[in-house]
Amino acid sequence: MERKMWTDTEISEIYNLPFLELIHKASLVHREHHDPNKVQVSSLISIKTGGCPEDCGYCPQAARYHTDIEKNDLMSVSQVKAQALRAKSTGSSRVCLGAAWRNVKDGKDFDDVIEMVREITKLDMEVCCTLGMLTETQAKRLEEAGLYAYNHNIDSSEEYYQEVISTRAFDDRIKTIDNVRKTSITVCSGGIIGMGEEEKDRIGMLKVLANMYPQPESVPINSLVPVEGTPMENQKTVSVFEMVRMIATTRIVLPETQVRLSAGRTQLSPEGQTLCFYAGANSIFAGDKLLTTPNPDVNEDMRLFGELGITTQKPFEKHPKREVVEASDSKIEALGENPRWTRPSKKTEEA
Ligand code: SF4
Repeated sequence: MERKMWTDTEISEIYNLPFLELIHKASLVHREHHDPNKVQVSSLISIKTGGCPEDCGYCPQAARYHTDIEKNDLMSVSQVKAQALRAKSTGSSRVCLGAAWRNVKDGKDFDDVIEMVREITKLDMEVCCTLGMLTETQAKRLEEAGLYAYNHNIDSSEEYYQEVISTRAFDDRIKTIDNVRKTSITVCSGGIIGMGEEEKDRIGMLKVLANMYPQPESVPINSLVPVEGTPMENQKTVSVFEMVRMIATTRIVLPETQVRLSAGRTQLSPEGQTLCFYAGANSIFAGDKLLTTPNPDVNEDMRLFGELGITTQKPFEKHPKREVVEASDSKIEALGENPRWTRPSKKTEEA
C-alpha cells in the first residue's frame, strides 16, 4: 500500500464528521478491506499478574496502587496450554499472553514464555505476547518460537503519555515496536480512551499509529475501566458514541488493520457493540475477565454473533503461520539481557 502521512487536521476532520456520515464512511472502508460479517475472537491469558514496578495510572497491576487483584507468579507452560485449549474450544483463534513486567529479562521465566509460544502455535492458534519492553534479540527468539504478534500499546498521544506513566518514555515504546519490526512478528499497538485526555490526544495517538510504516497489523481500542485504588478510579466512563467515533476514525486511517474492541466492552450494550462492528471493529476478546477487569461472557458474545449473522475469523487468515523452531534447534542465543530503559525525569535504571 502506498504510504500516506496523516496530519492532525486530516484526522480531526474525520473524527468530527457528523456521526452517521462518519460511520457510513468507515463502513465503506471496512468492506473494501475486510469481510464485514467476520469478527476474530481472541482470548487474553494473564500469565503473570500484578506486582508490576511501572506506574501506569490506569492499571490495577501496578504494585504501588492498592487494588484487590489476585497476584500470581508466572504460570506453568502446561497451565497456559490448558487455558489456550479451552479458549480454542470456545471459538478463539488467537491467544494473547500478558505478563505484568516492565521489560523482558533473559532467564528461566522468559524461556518458559518462549515454550508457551511454541506449544500454543502448534495448536494452530495465533499467539500474541505482551511482556513489556523488548530487545531485538529477545524479539528474534520469540519469532523463532513461532510468535505471530507482539502487543505494545502507545496508550495515548506522546504529550499525554507522560501524564499517565512516569516510569518510562513514549520513545521506549517506539523502540520496542521497532525491535519487533526487525522480525516477521506482526505489531499490535493501540491505546485507551477515557483517561482524562483531550480530543487532540486521541487524534495524536491515531496519527502516530497511522504514520507507522508499515502500519500496525492490529490496533486495540480500549475504553478505560476505572478501578478503585488506581489514580484513575474516578474517571467518567466514555459514551458509546465516543467509542464508536474512535473505532470509525481508526478504521478509516488504518484501513487494513485488525481493529480490536477491547477493554470496556461491558460498558457497551449489544446495540453499542453492533455499532462498533458496523464502524469497523473486527475483533473482540472473549472470557469473563480481560486481564483483571470484567468482560462479557462468551455465550453472550456468541448469542450476539448469531443474531447478527457474524462468523468467527479462522487463525492465520490475515498472515501466514510461522514455522516453529524447537528449543534444541534454536539458532539464536540468549544474551542474558536485562537492558537499561530510560526513566523520564528519574535517573536511568541500573542494569
Ligand atoms: S499496564 Fe503493564 S506495564 Fe503498566 S503497570 Fe500495568 S502491567 Fe505494568
